[in-house]
Amino acid sequence: MLGWLERAMAGRWIAGPSLYDAMEIAKRINRHRISVMVNYLGEEFRRPEDVDESVRTYARVMKGMRAAGIGGAVSIKPTQIGLRVSTKRMEHNYADIVERANSNGIFVWLDMETPDTVDRTISMYLRALRNSSNIGICIQSYLKRSHGDLHRIVGAGGTVRLVKGAYGLVEGDTLMSRQAITKNYLELMEYLFAHSGRFMIATHDRAMIRRAMHLGGLHKRDVTYAMLNGIDNRYALRLAREGNSVSLYLPFGTRWVEYAYRRFMEAGHARLILHSLARNQRL
Ligand SMILES: Cc1cc2nc3c(=O)[nH]c(=O)nc-3n(C[C@H](O)[C@H](O)[C@H](O)COP(=O)(O)OP(=O)(O)OC[C@H]3O[C@@H](n4cnc5c(N)ncnc54)[C@H](O)[C@@H]3O)c2cc1C
Repeated sequence: MLGWLERAMAGRWIAGPSLYDAMEIAKRINRHRISVMVNYLGEEFRRPEDVDESVRTYARVMKGMRAAGIGGAVSIKPTQIGLRVSTKRMEHNYADIVERANSNGIFVWLDMETPDTVDRTISMYLRALRNSSNIGICIQSYLKRSHGDLHRIVGAGGTVRLVKGAYGLVEGDTLMSRQAITKNYLELMEYLFAHSGRFMIATHDRAMIRRAMHLGGLHKRDVTYAMLNGIDNRYALRLAREGNSVSLYLPFGTRWVEYAYRRFMEAGHARLILHSLARNQRL
């Protein structure tokens, strides 16, 4: 059960329960020349009605973004659009969202979830890439397989958002130490700078961001620095003011517990949470 501190923290990470909340916060973020990746909270759906409700909500999100002139993307989880129901249903829903996004001038990111979902997520992405250019996919540096996946996706002309990975370590699938995950992140990032024209460096690890900026000085690339809303907004603002392309992942909705739980696991202990409260203002 999450207590008052957790609820207060979740309120900093999540735009609010409604689409209206997400649009209002997104507008505020956009005023700082920071784009948004709007995510409707919810995952691991096994009931078709939950999946359908998510897909309908993303249609409303994209309409709302267009109407309000909000700059950014939507970011969807395969398990919220049907991965646990059927691959066919997921692919149908993804195609529907991508098509609507295309007509609204919006980019669609695919989040990456637990290791057992990676094959189906990447296959779906690569198939969609044959007909769409407004789509990107997340790659996690904690997965041992990610070098191969990254080469394949970049080779096919895909757009990657590189993260460390948030779904817990699994013997066999993931690297097991923070140091190894960070080292792998660096290697994957170097590959992106060497071989990809456009990608997203999604991390709050300032040393890694500094390294990316150094690489950006060597290779002219279209790089966006991305963070989760509410973790280090001040730094995001600073990067934007320095002229970098910056984006914030902005979840909204009522199903916030799983998302908040992952953030708590990353915060690790109270000191980090208080540190985050101190350096993070709402934009
Ligand atoms: C834009 C974006 C999209 C993402 N999408 C996905 C996805 O689709 N799939 C996926 O598995 N993961 C995703 N993640 C999460 C990611 O995998 C990491 O779990 C998360 O970013 C923390 O790792 P880090 O790279 O910031 O590095 P870390 O080494 O974990 O953190 C670096 C520093 O950031 C600060 N910090 C990090 N987290 C917190 C926190 N919760 N509270 C307070 N301080 C904190 C600390 O100062 C820490 O020292 C995403 C992350 C971002 C930024």
